[in-house]
Amino acid sequence: MHFDLNNLIRQNIKDLQPYSSARSEFSGEARVFLDANENSFGSPIKNLSITETDYNRYPDPLQWDLKKKIATIKNTDAEKMLLGNGSDECIDLLFRAFCNPQKDNVIICPPTYGMYKVYANINDVEAKEVNLLLNFQLDIKSLEASIDENTKMIFLCSPNNPTGNSLDREDIEIILNNFDGIVVIDEAYINYSRHRSFLKELNEYPNLVVMQTFSKAWGLAALRLGVVFASAEIIEVLNKIKPPYNINQATQELAMLALDHLQQVNEMIKTTIREREFLENKLKQLSIVEKVYPSDTNFLLVKIKEATSVYNLLKTKGIIVRNRSNVVLCDDCLRITVGTKEENDVLIQILQNF
Ligand SMILES: *Cc1c(COP(=O)(O)O)cnc(C)c1O
Repeated sequence: MHFDLNNLIRQNIKDLQPYSSARSEFSGEARVFLDANENSFGSPIKNLSITETDYNRYPDPLQWDLKKKIATIKNTDAEKMLLGNGSDECIDLLFRAFCNPQKDNVIICPPTYGMYKVYANINDVEAKEVNLLLNFQLDIKSLEASIDENTKMIFLCSPNNPTGNSLDREDIEIILNNFDGIVVIDEAYINYSRHRSFLKELNEYPNLVVMQTFSKAWGLAALRLGVVFASAEIIEVLNKIKPPYNINQATQELAMLALDHLQQVNEMIKTTIREREFLENKLKQLSIVEKVYPSDTNFLLVKIKEATSVYNLLKTKGIIVRNRSNVVLCDDCLRITVGTKEENDVLIQILQNF
């Protein structure tokens, strides 16, 4: 392996003079802020006592307080972290940092999360597709064969959406050890998994990027908060191109609050896994269900007779699941998120009568 970050960064990004926000030029204690054209008189929500802060001031562009708190929980450094407006923004930033439109390419491994391809398309970057094997593991030989000199990133999702399984650690290590470009591991569902995160391996692999999110186990999908963990050098590149105030003040405060309640999150994770096992057992007893795939996530991929009819029936009853039956390797499959006990009971009851 010969990893050289400098060779991967787009020339226009290397040359970029980043926007220097009023707040980033000044650090320290001040009494009077007349530098950013904010409204010095406050905001209409100031006295509603929703939170202690007013929102008339621009937030910290680098979200240091929040990052330090996450770093403590994750046992890493705030300097090795970038926060995005959801993982979506993180994915987009990676494309913009490393992929020249109409020239470079990335590799994705379907069936997987749809946004990698969407952002490849938005950025006019080719997404080479190397399907997973029938057991939903990486096809290492084909992967290797599709890497060329313009391949900048490989996106791996583990545990994978929509299949629910974790990718074999040895396979991921082979790629990390042999690919000169960036290896992105999307760990959106890691909190539900029996397998270890790759976060601890950050110092070992300069080409490793780990993505996590507050949208799943943390229960904060509406906040839009995603995290990139990578070397300080990679983070520096991403910081250069991110919108200066991409994480708003309310999100920073609410995420800080949430981080004080790790115990509660761990309880929810346990409950989710318990309900997933319940749902899995109930589903397996149904005659229309052909297979429930093993899951390291908060959802189940279920192979079902007449999947689209079942999907439509559920819809008429006001229950929405994800129809994946047209997705490669997912013929006749529905993806069902684990609900509350009551929600799962209703689902099973309807399916029993199909
Ligand atoms: C849900 C999910 C995310 C989360 O995306 P956000 O933009 O952070 O909400 C990321 N990756 C995968 C694979 C997901 O399924």
